Amino acid sequence: MSANLLSYHKITDRIDFGITTRTLRDFRNDVALIHSLPSDQRPNFCFDDGYEDTFTNAFPILSEFGFTANLFIITGVLGKFNSWDFTFFGTFKHLSREQVKTLSDAGWNIGSHTKSHLALTTLSPSLLRAELLDSKKFLEDLLGKAVTSISFPFGNFNARVLDACKEAGFQEAISIKKPSPDGFVKRSKAVYRFDSLNSIRAKLRNAPLELLRLRTINACSGATIFMHKLKGYRPIHHAE
Ligand SMILES: [Zn+2]
Repeated sequence: MSANLLSYHKITDRIDFGITTRTLRDFRNDVALIHSLPSDQRPNFCFDDGYEDTFTNAFPILSEFGFTANLFIITGVLGKFNSWDFTFFGTFKHLSREQVKTLSDAGWNIGSHTKSHLALTTLSPSLLRAELLDSKKFLEDLLGKAVTSISFPFGNFNARVLDACKEAGFQEAISIKKPSPDGFVKRSKAVYRFDSLNSIRAKLRNAPLELLRLRTINACSGATIFMHKLKGYRPIHHAE
C-alpha cells in the first residue's frame, strides 16, 4: 500500500445526514484530482464498512480512471442492512458475497474490518480473537486467498490489539486515527461530506491544521461506541 491513504465510507446521492457520506459528484472530483497527480504522489483509496454503494457507485468511477482500492469488510453484515450504524433516513445495504468476489477479481485488495464493528480495545481476549480470526477466515473461504490487511473500527487500537492481530496472521493494519511506531499500522485520512479538493490536498501533505480537524471529527466516533453500549450492541455471528 502507498504511504498515503484516503478512507471513504458511503458514496451515494441518497439523503443521509451522516458525515461519512460523499456524493457521486464530489467523489468523481476527488478521483480526478488524484488522477491528475504524478503517479508517485497518488494516495491509495480505502473503503471501510463494505456498503453496497462501494460496488454500485465507487467501483465504476475508480475503474474509469484505472484505479483499484482497498476494501475493508464487516463480515458479520455482508448482504444485510446496516443495523449496527446510526442513520436518519432509512437503512443502507452492505455488499453481497458475489460483489466482494467481483471486486477481488478486479484487483481490489480485500481486508477485514472485523466481524461486528466493535471497538477492539474494549473486548475480552476471547472476543477480540473471534472478531479477528472469524472475519479473516470468512473472507479467505469466500475469496480463496490469504487476507492479511485489517482496518480498525473507529480507528481504535492498543498494544494488546496489535499483538492479537499479528498472532492472527495480519501483516498490515489501517487506522483513521494514528499510525503505530513500528509501522504495522498505517494512518489513513478519512474524507468526509464537507471536504473540498483543497482539504483533500491538505490531507495528502499532512497539513497540521487539517490533521487537527480530523482528530476533532474522529473523536466523535466515541459517541457511536457510547450508543452501542447503551443499546447493548453485541457481536454478530456469521450466517450459514
Ligand atoms: Zn467502520
